[in-house]
Amino acid sequence: MEVSVLEPQMLSDLARANDWNAATLVAGLRTYFRSGSTTELSWRRKQLSQLRKMISENEAHFVQALQDDLRKAPQESYLTEISFLYNDINHTLKSLKKWVRPRKVQSPMMTQPAKSYVQPEPLGVVLIIGAWNYPLQLLLSPLVPAIAAGNCAVVKPSELSPATSRLIAELLPRYLDNDAFACVEGGVAETTALLEQRWDHIMYTGGGRVGKIIMSAAAKYLTPVTLELGGKSPCIVADDANLEVAARRIAWGKFTNAGQTCIAPDYVLCSRQTADRFTPMLQRVLWEMYGEHPRESADYGRIINSQHTLRLSDYLGDGEVVFGGEVDVDDCYMAPTIMRNVNLSAGVMQEEIFGPILPIIELDDFSKAEEFVNEREKPLALYVFTQDEALADRILSRCSSGNACVNDCMMFMLAQDLPFGGVGASGMGSYHGEHGFRTFSHYKAVMRRRNILDIDIRYAPFNDRKMKFLRLLSK
Ligand code: NAD
Repeated sequence: MEVSVLEPQMLSDLARANDWNAATLVAGLRTYFRSGSTTELSWRRKQLSQLRKMISENEAHFVQALQDDLRKAPQESYLTEISFLYNDINHTLKSLKKWVRPRKVQSPMMTQPAKSYVQPEPLGVVLIIGAWNYPLQLLLSPLVPAIAAGNCAVVKPSELSPATSRLIAELLPRYLDNDAFACVEGGVAETTALLEQRWDHIMYTGGGRVGKIIMSAAAKYLTPVTLELGGKSPCIVADDANLEVAARRIAWGKFTNAGQTCIAPDYVLCSRQTADRFTPMLQRVLWEMYGEHPRESADYGRIINSQHTLRLSDYLGDGEVVFGGEVDVDDCYMAPTIMRNVNLSAGVMQEEIFGPILPIIELDDFSKAEEFVNEREKPLALYVFTQDEALADRILSRCSSGNACVNDCMMFMLAQDLPFGGVGASGMGSYHGEHGFRTFSHYKAVMRRRNILDIDIRYAPFNDRKMKFLRLLSK
């Protein structure tokens, strides 16, 4: 595939060309929003189609940018970023007419004659802050429902994935309505300037530390927030699980994008006997997937930068490395790694790993698995591998998590009608499909009355007759 790489300097100049003063930018978008243009369904459809066109016409450039940022394999980029967005946009275009429709509700007797309905309306001007691990999908997937709901938006890609950030900043103005959308590149300074503005909603994807900064900035204007955060997602493997299948699916969930996935299984929780059977199966799957030298595999990614590679390499001392463990900081490389006998109070089990290290935690008493999970922060995802439906039901009902999957990892992401979001420390609010449309809409309660029939019981002077009638109506 011939990829004509866009000149980085040219791109950053273009991105800077919408030279921005945060306050002026937001004021301009707000003026446009108030013009009412974004409420037109045809406008929303056009913007969504343009977004799809932007991706399809530049697929090769996106694949290249994702390679540059994370050494993602083209097929992986297609599966987890590009096709994900196509499905998202197509589903939204197909469903939009239904989502925007007012929903009728009953009007009680005392209000008759009346029509009551719930009318979704756009929030206004929204800010979307993306993360670096899926730098395309995590920035544009929230933009899809923001457009669908009729908002103006500013997107802020992560500075840690500069190639994708630059490409989006360069392309977005070429395809979308520039009066309604803008992309601001940058790091802390730019995000801080944006956060000082008044927004109608902020959606942030990233770690909890910055999540708190976002929430306190939003509090100034009582701006609602959606926080898509992370955490340690447990993967419980019961003794009766089909371990062959589990090994493949867990290895895929963990080592895709070199473990830098917010819903990657963070650690495996199982009995000692299962750990002994499961470890060699995982090793075999990893050999099959990435060969004996994963570093040479075109299908195995890299850590986002050397700082994160160093952070990850520190975890290797927190237990016994039974597979992998090779690190090359200069190449941002860490081999797919399995650890056992890890120290539960050390970094590897106290922090979200967010890299290609899979600790296997062996429980003397497997029935303590739920307790193990519940003693920790509520995770973004919870995985259970078992053939026992009752066991799966019990774990799902006792352990809270943002999302859950039985006998697989991460696949719930493909179901457009499932909400995606965290709970507790793993986030608040959700999106995907109609849930995203709801996030970026206000559901306005409307009652329309007519001027005939004006039951007098609510008006003074009050008397027994009115009271009796009132009681009758409230029965
Ligand atoms: P981060 O939180 O450092 O950065 C995310 C965004 O915040 C970037 O756009 C960055 O520019 C901005 N930012 C950074 N510092 C800031 C500051 N001081 N003030 C204002 N803005 C600032 O990203 P990270 O923590 O490295 O991302 C990894 C985390 O994100 C992991 O915990 C992962 O689980 C989580 N994550 C969650 C999801 C999800 O959908 N729930 C997806 C991807 C990643």
